[in-house]
Amino acid sequence: MHVMVIPYPAQGHVIPLMEVARCIAINGLKVTFVNTEVTHKKIMSACGSQKDGPNDLIQMVSIPDGMQPWEDRRDLGKLTESISRMMPTKLEELIEGINKTDNKVTCIIADASLVWAIRVAKKMGIRSASFCSSAAAVMALIMSIQKLLEDEIIDRNGIPLKDQMIQLSTTMPFMDPAKFTWACVGNPATNKIIFDILILGTKEAAETADCIICNSTMELETGAFRLFPKMLPIGPLLATNRFLKQEGHFWKEDFTCLTWLDQQPVCSVIYVAFGSVTIFNQSQFEELAFGLELTNKPFLWAVRPETSGSMNGTIYPNGFMDRVGDHGKIVSWAPQQEVLSHPSVACFMSHCGWNSTMEGVSNGVPFLCWPYFADQFLNTTYICDIWKTGLGLKKDDSGIVTRGEIKSKVELLLSNKIIKENALNLKEKVGAERSSNKKLSEFIDWVKKGNVNAPEKNTCN
Ligand code: UDP
Repeated sequence: MHVMVIPYPAQGHVIPLMEVARCIAINGLKVTFVNTEVTHKKIMSACGSQKDGPNDLIQMVSIPDGMQPWEDRRDLGKLTESISRMMPTKLEELIEGINKTDNKVTCIIADASLVWAIRVAKKMGIRSASFCSSAAAVMALIMSIQKLLEDEIIDRNGIPLKDQMIQLSTTMPFMDPAKFTWACVGNPATNKIIFDILILGTKEAAETADCIICNSTMELETGAFRLFPKMLPIGPLLATNRFLKQEGHFWKEDFTCLTWLDQQPVCSVIYVAFGSVTIFNQSQFEELAFGLELTNKPFLWAVRPETSGSMNGTIYPNGFMDRVGDHGKIVSWAPQQEVLSHPSVACFMSHCGWNSTMEGVSNGVPFLCWPYFADQFLNTTYICDIWKTGLGLKKDDSGIVTRGEIKSKVELLLSNKIIKENALNLKEKVGAERSSNKKLSEFIDWVKKGNVNAPEKNTCN
């Protein structure tokens, strides 16, 4: 058996799929992980000389993404168009090469948004699985597009037509059409590319792949799994449950923050991190710095080099570093799973990407939600309104989250015993479900044995 795993070339997609790949590899199967050349280079250079990098278990290979070296891969529209133009042919060539050996590709697991990979699998007679790295609710929303069109909630380009909250079923969260995943990625042109290629592609992939797996749990998203029972909940995919550490980071993790956390009182630190994509303009960035200072609490802040949209790099307010001293720790990339499981962490100020959401939930950490784009608004709804494990940060009339708002929400959250209790209860439930969850092992069995039938549909008790 030889399994090929293909992520969308973004950090939040690579990390969980790497986890799936490693779960399969430890079962003795050969696994080839296919990155774009650019992400491959980032991963390899971030893990440096570490002996236990991803290569220990799986074979890491790369194919071109079709963009020129100088082109901006943060433009998700351009990146998406380019990979769907270039990568199908390159993938086919790669598989043809491998299939000349004795170790032919027997299964392809591709990110849910990469319909071309599923098409290649079908064309070459290889079994396929689609992996959803976002909430199951996002997949349920995508699978409801026909109904959204019929009800005139969106038009053929995915543009929201109604200014009212909708609910896909009575057990699903309310959703604001203006905040549908595809409606708030970037400018209108980018949103349209995302809708046409990624979203409609995800729908086709979900309909045609033999199997769909999702990094979520029945406990967290019963309504969505009920609505779309073909999807198997295999989450949460946390490395710390199985392996020593997570793999697939684009940046080198700074482990010095763990030693710093060891020196802080239990449940005292605000962990601040906004994933791999979020950018702040300079004034918002400064306001956040002032806000953290004002809380008078220890904080650990992950600031990627390009977090601040400033052309001159990251510029902190005058004297900020001196005033903060040892009271705050700033790293460019944190070992987030380890950080969130550290007893010193009191809360998580987050953009609410789905991986961060799952990691925070699994560790029972209350959230301060500051969504940036795409599905992060829906994830915020889960946290604040459904699970009640966090509070949202509100923007003022000029679109800024002020230092005053940051200070008062931190105080409100840390003094709220109910939210903390909810977070701990949810951690227990998700943990219990994880240890009894058969769906991941059923899925691995299916990959392993090459049975014709995909695992049984999920059952909602
Ligand atoms: N992450 C990390 N260190 C950081 C910030 C993020 O290891 O300083 C990891 C985080 O644990 C998560 C992933 O990067 O697994 C980010 O995925 P998410 O879906 O939360 O956000 P995205 O980057 O896709 O916006």
